[in-house]
Amino acid sequence: MTTAAHPVSALAPNYHPLPVTVAHGEGSWVTDTAGRRYLDLLSAYSALNFGHRHPALVAAAHAQLDRLTLTSRAFDHDLLEPFATRLAGLVGPLLAGTSHLVLPMNTGAEAVETAVKAARKWGYEVKGVPADRATIVVADGNFHGRTTTIVSFSTDPDARRGFGPFTPGFVSVPYGDADALAAALDDTVVAVLLEPVQGEQGVVVPPDDYLPAVRALCDRADVLLVADEIQSGLGRTGSTLACERWDVRPDLVTLGKALGGGVVPVSAVVGRADVLEVLTAGTHGSTFGGNPMACAVGLAVIDLLEPGTLQARARTLGERMGERLGPLVDDERLSGLRTIGLWAGLDVAPSAPGGPATGRELCERLLARGVLAKDTHGATIRLAPPLTIDVEDLDRALDHVVDAVRG
Ligand SMILES: *Cc1c(COP(=O)(O)O)cnc(C)c1O
Repeated sequence: MTTAAHPVSALAPNYHPLPVTVAHGEGSWVTDTAGRRYLDLLSAYSALNFGHRHPALVAAAHAQLDRLTLTSRAFDHDLLEPFATRLAGLVGPLLAGTSHLVLPMNTGAEAVETAVKAARKWGYEVKGVPADRATIVVADGNFHGRTTTIVSFSTDPDARRGFGPFTPGFVSVPYGDADALAAALDDTVVAVLLEPVQGEQGVVVPPDDYLPAVRALCDRADVLLVADEIQSGLGRTGSTLACERWDVRPDLVTLGKALGGGVVPVSAVVGRADVLEVLTAGTHGSTFGGNPMACAVGLAVIDLLEPGTLQARARTLGERMGERLGPLVDDERLSGLRTIGLWAGLDVAPSAPGGPATGRELCERLLARGVLAKDTHGATIRLAPPLTIDVEDLDRALDHVVDAVRG
């Protein structure tokens, strides 16, 4: 018998967090167990677009806790229909088609799974694809979640290795290359599933003609365009959907992260009624999807987004962020910088003297300066401050980023 090394932690090691233990959060700030304060430039991967404990979201959650928390979908509750109506009202006008439905789930991965199932069933029942032959085209470098089906079409070896056998029916083509996509569209294709901006890949923004070309190709081939806006949606890029930045209307959109306001997990598929209609009673579901807590917080999130002020704020503050970070590229301190709205991907230049060698090292330097950010794919870090961040706090945080990059 072999004895396993005694674990230092009872947690499974599937994350490698920065060495900080947070005990309190408010707005753009968190405080650790030792009382040190940090500006949060990650915003839980955009789940905290409205900051920590936004008063309107906390109030909605408190009020709901005192009234009704769960019914399951076996019974309706009084916020389910209002949530669906309001979310369809916010997002429907940005989608293809004239009539839209909402299918509530909990996590992002579940929303993506729901979109995959809806697209396949639509393919068989409406488009007429032969049974079990449906193909969904995705893009290299994608991130859509962690289920076995979703990692089946990941191109990240870490996300896939050891988790086979994989779900068939997916084809991956280079991101940003409309010709490669066109070549993949045969008669079995039911959907193209894309992130309009690849967040996890390091805020990769496609060429301006890409998404419009994808939309045109999907129209021509009778293929659904499914936009995964779980990270890019709900204000981050300066509009309610990132797709709006290119005037592109997807058939289905997956939302998550910020839809729960950083309070509870809330996700949804919003899309053309004639597509989501295929998921009839008994064919798909979720015990917690659309629960009263989720709907109460989700409605308060919609209240925050409806006026468009936060989306405009993301654009204005994003320009400020771009202007502040741009010189680091000119100085060859960064080898890459991509921004859209209040969202940036920075690639450290490992050969820059005194600069950080990796994204992780940059995050450690920022942590020491009281700023939280997270690396991805080695050399890259992603900045996604709360859309509610004070201008002074943003400037202060960016000063630290600039200094930490310069070393
Ligand atoms: C985070 C994310 C997901 C998965 O969401 P979970 O809530 O972690 O399951 C899916 N797609 C995109 C684009 C994401 O950023």
